[in-house]
Amino acid sequence: MFPAIARDFVAVLITRFAPSPTGLLHLGHVFSAWQAWSLAMARGGRFLLRLEDTDTGRCRREFEQAILEDLAWLGLKWEEPVLRQSAHVERYRAALARLQKLDLVYPCFCTRSEVRREIEAAASAPHGLPEGARDPMGSPIYPGTCRNLPKAERTSRIKRGDAHAWRLDSALAAERSGILTWEDEKAGVVTAEPLTFGDVVLARKGTPTSYHLAVVVDDAFQEISLVVRGDDLFAATHIHRLLQAVLGLPSPVYSHHPLLVDAQGRRFAKRDKDLTIRALRESGVAPVDVVAMTANYLDG
Ligand code: GLU
Repeated sequence: MFPAIARDFVAVLITRFAPSPTGLLHLGHVFSAWQAWSLAMARGGRFLLRLEDTDTGRCRREFEQAILEDLAWLGLKWEEPVLRQSAHVERYRAALARLQKLDLVYPCFCTRSEVRREIEAAASAPHGLPEGARDPMGSPIYPGTCRNLPKAERTSRIKRGDAHAWRLDSALAAERSGILTWEDEKAGVVTAEPLTFGDVVLARKGTPTSYHLAVVVDDAFQEISLVVRGDDLFAATHIHRLLQAVLGLPSPVYSHHPLLVDAQGRRFAKRDKDLTIRALRESGVAPVDVVAMTANYLDG
């Protein structure tokens, strides 16, 4: 027999489902949640739920309620408490403060329209960003205008109350971290490309954290050991790995799954009202059949 203490050394797999309550869950979410839950169950692990609701402009309490009800109806069981990110902003503020102390973030005073103009100007400069440089989500990459502001100007503008966001100095963070890799159950060992998104915003006025910062902080806080999520977030893992390194947080294993697409090959979105769990449920489809339906929409 093992001594009692040996149990402590057996790492228990922990997965999570982390929807943003900006709408009703659709078949794409069913697939993702089911994958995360069934992997945890199959491997004797734990399954947690997290509501990523820091974007107060888009998240709604009624969607939170609907998400919980729909997941329960599907037969998923998660551990309580559900982590609601908006209740933990101090954790993200602390992470940002740590990055500020390390000089790895800088205040950016550019408005959205200034960023657009700077991007156009940078594209036409002889040694600027290649024309139309975009991140994998399709957003133009910020040319780094505020990265070079003198320290005194930064301080005085902050003191004056100028609105600003905090951006990661990704090149400096990458230089300090050295070569980073992360493990994906499907893709194997992946070498991080931390500059993929440029200097990402980590916090802005009224929003104390961006998705990138909160997801890294909370995956560590919840001790997630396997992150199951869609392929659309594969590239984001490059920046997540960099943030883990500079914040001294562990890096979970990832499992990025194919996305579900509709008959036109488009990703599910709010427009696909017929394929929300709610609509399927109201039309009399059984939970087990909703889960089975996901197979018909897998991309590829
Ligand atoms: N909240 C994100 C979404 O709803 C998912 C984040 C993640 O799984 O890392 O798309």
